[in-house]
Amino acid sequence: MVKINPHLLKLNSNYLFQEIEKRHKKMQKHFDIAFINLGMGDATLPIPSVVTDAISSAVLELKSEKTFRGYGPSHGELFLKKAIKENEYSNFSFTEDEIFISNGTKTDISAIQELFAEDSIIAISDPAYPVYVDSNVLAGRTKAFSQGTYEGLVYLPCLEENNFLPVPPNFSCDVIYLCSPHNPTGSAFKKHELQRWVDYAKKQQAIILYDGAYESFISSSDTPRSIYEIKGAEDVAIEFRSFSKSAGFTSLRLSYYVIPKTLSSNVFSLHDLWKRRTDSRYGGTPYPIQRGGEASFSKEGKKALKEIIFKYKQNALFLREGLSSLGFTVFGGIDSPFIWCKTLNNLSSWDFFDYLLEKAQIITAPGVGFGLSGEGFVRFSSFPKKEFLEEGLKRLKKIV
Ligand code: PLP
Repeated sequence: MVKINPHLLKLNSNYLFQEIEKRHKKMQKHFDIAFINLGMGDATLPIPSVVTDAISSAVLELKSEKTFRGYGPSHGELFLKKAIKENEYSNFSFTEDEIFISNGTKTDISAIQELFAEDSIIAISDPAYPVYVDSNVLAGRTKAFSQGTYEGLVYLPCLEENNFLPVPPNFSCDVIYLCSPHNPTGSAFKKHELQRWVDYAKKQQAIILYDGAYESFISSSDTPRSIYEIKGAEDVAIEFRSFSKSAGFTSLRLSYYVIPKTLSSNVFSLHDLWKRRTDSRYGGTPYPIQRGGEASFSKEGKKALKEIIFKYKQNALFLREGLSSLGFTVFGGIDSPFIWCKTLNNLSSWDFFDYLLEKAQIITAPGVGFGLSGEGFVRFSSFPKKEFLEEGLKRLKKIV
């Protein structure tokens, strides 16, 4: 008789965003006005035509015998790796071979734990993007979910006293998930804060998995866009980046990550091991999509993407100021698309979420859904269209 993977059964019954949708649908039945989602993490601005044109012509190449292509390299096309190297990592000594192309940071950051032994001590920022926890649960590194946590993981609280970012613990961990700008708290590491993490990882011979999915939102000069700006990081860190939010690729799917050859664990080259693993487990990212990624680094592409990020960042400021003027206590939203907002009257995250849903027909993302330390907060986001932000603030004004 077939037996189910017992670790799959340990997963919290609903993925956060499905629970949000479930509650929204239930409440929507009682109203005939549309609800406004101010907590969403999805991109809303369209992809620049220089990018979509490149994708279309790459698709058309496939209909001619002369230009048809079959399977591509599982770790990505050289033309895209070159564009990434030149545009994103020109100051670093990596070669194209150290860059892996993939179909989304969700895929990459959930898969990467396969590099590490089952009994590794895994430390995860709390609250955080739920995929870090879930992928380690699925890999069998935890006991059952109980009272908001999984026994077997180390949770690194991101609280107000540490600017909603994790700080190195005074004990040893093997693998650490960091995200900057951090989802959901909207804070981003300053250089000296990240240096502490790199020093910690060196001392503990640990590896940092650095999620830079929102890196393009960074504009403060003392906030590093890449962990490799930090001295020694190339020996201890794998960096992940996505085209999802910076270029609107959430439906197209495109990402990359860097595994430096200098990264090692005892005698093993993590880079070589991962490359071997990728050859067996990943079929490669569609060729036309990679051409689209390449076009986003063209002069026209870069200009268009800059405008997109500028609009989202303007939204973030607008929302941050709007919420604060209504009396909400807010954090983040400067180098990030996310605004971390304290609930009113010390309500729990879910109670406040339900309250806003019912009284203002506004959807947010409850902080506790990202981890226990997110309790008492909800996440607002700058991705909704400006008119929805305006309407959302009007509705909030009526209820506060
Ligand atoms: N990392 C973080 C912190 C995210 O918030 C998200 C998506 O919301 C991802 C990764 C996933 O990115 P992708 O669309 O490239 O899979």
